[in-house]
Amino acid sequence: MLNNTDNIEFLCKLSNVISKKISPSKVILSINKLFQTYLNIQKTEIIIWDNNSMLLKTFGQDMKLYDEKTKEEEINYIYGNLSVFNGNKFYFNEHEFDCEIIEEEQYFISELKSENNTIIYPLVANNEVFGLLKTDAQKMTYTRDFFSLLNIASKLISGAIINYILNEQMEVSLNFYKAMKDIAKIIESQYELSYIIPMIGEMIDRFISSHLIYIFIYQDNEYKLVWPNACKEETVHKLLKKINAKTEYLLSDDKKTGLFPLVSEGTILGAIAANSNIEKLLQKDIDYLVQLSRQSGLTIQRANVYAEVLQYATLDALTGLNNRRQFELRLKQEVANANRNNTPLCAMMADVDYFKKVNDTYGHAAGDIVLKSISEIIKNELREYDIACRYGGEEFFIILPQTKLQEATAVAQRLRKVVEDSKISIKEAGINGIPDIKVTVSIGVCMYSSDLTANAFVQQADKALYEAKKTGRNRVIVF
Ligand code: GH3
Ligand code: MG
Ligand code: MG
Repeated sequence: MLNNTDNIEFLCKLSNVISKKISPSKVILSINKLFQTYLNIQKTEIIIWDNNSMLLKTFGQDMKLYDEKTKEEEINYIYGNLSVFNGNKFYFNEHEFDCEIIEEEQYFISELKSENNTIIYPLVANNEVFGLLKTDAQKMTYTRDFFSLLNIASKLISGAIINYILNEQMEVSLNFYKAMKDIAKIIESQYELSYIIPMIGEMIDRFISSHLIYIFIYQDNEYKLVWPNACKEETVHKLLKKINAKTEYLLSDDKKTGLFPLVSEGTILGAIAANSNIEKLLQKDIDYLVQLSRQSGLTIQRANVYAEVLQYATLDALTGLNNRRQFELRLKQEVANANRNNTPLCAMMADVDYFKKVNDTYGHAAGDIVLKSISEIIKNELREYDIACRYGGEEFFIILPQTKLQEATAVAQRLRKVVEDSKISIKEAGINGIPDIKVTVSIGVCMYSSDLTANAFVQQADKALYEAKKTGRNRVIVF
């Protein structure tokens, strides 16, 4: 069997493995290997009791839940019943043994006879059993030495696992506060509900990963789904009918579906629904969702007010370019001018390439700065009487009065090149840890002819832009 050098080597390697910052699945893999090599134990599993879900979980397999049936079998098979978690019991070969806790919290086995394979050690922190170390060993004669070693190993592992659990809990609360902050922050640059709501949806979805999230807006006496595209869950629609501005939240009978109203100043603006076909909503998730929907309600309400005010504005709040409303006006004017004076009129539509990736990689705040910087470049590259507009999220429309196609194309090429050569620094905005960002734009250029409506004119630019995207991006295509 083991000699002393082996023992020490085993314990050293074990402490090494569990103190590394690696994923639980890797930890459990390494533990398995060590147990195989040094203790002749074929399989090692760590099972922890999750206070939150009141379920047993295997550590290292994505913290997967034991389903109800397996859980019951597992409990019946090994633990007899759940009281194991309260007592200080030691199990070997399906038999229960008492283990005394003496001062240093050492576990001693009072009796050992069996030849079977399963050995279970309790994982203990603060004098409480929070999980089990379960091993399947080959038939062999167990020595006291072997158990001492296993005993020390289980202590080391206990410490590491409880640390991991605590860290994970802390990370969840940090993520929660980040989600709350992000939702509150959206309003600084955005006021279109069609843009805000998907963002809120994504943030909540990312945070509550076990359930699908739906967002409804209450309009004209009914709930309209605004995120994502479809909700076929009947329970959600049924619950929707039952909520009002005074509802804090509403759960389905099986607790797998929850409805959280979006309320502001006593009026109902909509609702967030969380649904799963497998998992119940935990009290913790519910608490989080209640707060997240409160925050979302406020943000949506403020966005509504902001949008009303901005109806009278001409400039886009984020970029300082002409806004969409102003764009429509100016386009009509310039088309009329071109017709009246018989002067050339061109336009270009620019769209940032792979912009979603910028948001996904660096966050929306960084994305916003990229949009601002591109708008600055556009302003710099244009003549004074050119009209630059923010057409949509990351789409720009530029009206070029008294410009021939050749000139317009040259301007577009220049613009494309300047953007390509720019490094956008995010640091100035107080966001640290993000490298300078490089993006490109695709541009569609077109020229007005008197047989066109303003709409058809815009569509030509759009089609050319589409072609630029299709043929590889970072290029200019003339309609
Ligand atoms: P491509 O145009 O090259 O086909 O790819 P893309 O990734 O740019 O595609 P798409 O046009 O679908 O994505 C545009 C993204 O721009 C989606 C949206 O979340 C984001 N967006 C729109 N408006 C804003 C905004 O004001 N700020 C930020 N940060 N992102 C925005
Ligand atoms: Mg794009
Ligand atoms: Mg786009």
